[in-house]
Amino acid sequence: MAKTPEEIIRDDVRALRAYHVPDSSGMVKLDAMENPYELPPALRARLATLIESASLNRYPDPGARRLKARLRESFALPDGVEMLLGNGSDEIIQMLVLAAARPGAVVLGVEPSFTMFRMIAAFAGVRYIGAELREDFALEIERVLRAVEEHQPGLIFIAYPNNPTGNLFDAGAIERVIRAAPGLVVVDEAYYAFAGSSFMAKLPHQRNLLVMRTLSKLGLAGLRLGVLAGHAQWIAELDKLRLPYNVSTLTQMVANEVLQHGAVLTEQAAAIKLERGRLMRKLQDVPGLTPYPSDANFILFRVTHAERVFDGLKQRGVLIKSLHGSHRLLANCLRVTVGTPQENDAFLAALTQSLNA
Ligand code: PMP
Repeated sequence: MAKTPEEIIRDDVRALRAYHVPDSSGMVKLDAMENPYELPPALRARLATLIESASLNRYPDPGARRLKARLRESFALPDGVEMLLGNGSDEIIQMLVLAAARPGAVVLGVEPSFTMFRMIAAFAGVRYIGAELREDFALEIERVLRAVEEHQPGLIFIAYPNNPTGNLFDAGAIERVIRAAPGLVVVDEAYYAFAGSSFMAKLPHQRNLLVMRTLSKLGLAGLRLGVLAGHAQWIAELDKLRLPYNVSTLTQMVANEVLQHGAVLTEQAAAIKLERGRLMRKLQDVPGLTPYPSDANFILFRVTHAERVFDGLKQRGVLIKSLHGSHRLLANCLRVTVGTPQENDAFLAALTQSLNA
């Protein structure tokens, strides 16, 4: 007789809850740190022509050579630094964790941070330790260093800026972690375009440092392209775990073309940063609400009754993200992605109504 899932699927996998993506159809969508702007019509037309000529009967270039050359320039990779590409940075996190999943291995992160670090460690059956941040979401450096000393993690993830808190940790503190780490430190710069501070230039000096980026927050979330930069010795090992054709022909083509017109994305990021400033000032004026400083394209804020405000916004057609219940430090916290000026106004109006309802 055929066996049941209980007999075949790992107990720890059956105990997991699937990553929930809420239905956003017809809503003002400010829940997922997407760039709210489309590409300009001329560039879209150019992409259509390119796609028309794509040889989709053939496998993609497994080495993505043209795209890598373009990324090297766009991301100002230092000489001698190599690259690994992923189907989004999520896939890169998965390759990193799989590669480090020796018996007894530990992955270290801070808490609260991007949930996929913890989840992917769980997928791979690797122990995950989260060093709690301070109440103001700064890195509690002594706690992190103690955890490094005690658990000797093979892999450390630090999001810079951090999600969902939005802040940049102190760069000097991160360098101390890099020096103390027995293994790899991955600085996840998913939101670098909104931050103006990066570890990329430090790569040649720190052999156990890897810098991860994604095109998702820049305006190409639908494309799925993540990039890991680091020393050739590490990248060569990690690349063995990459499925040969993980970055599709269309992704390679479109990313290459859009990055060739990189100013479009830079200008959009500048507009988002400007709106972030305006949104922050408006939120600071709302009684009973505390917004936290942000170097990303979203703002975390605390209210008195997060669930009520979240539901009120949803009823008024605005979808944001509730972090309430996800971590002790995030009680009554909500996270809004910076949208277009119109979307942000719709959010602010719905917020005022929800707070006063
Ligand atoms: N890192 C961080 C810190 C993120 O917030 C996200 C997306 N929310 C990712 C990585 C994953 O991005 P992607 O897989 O779209 O590249």
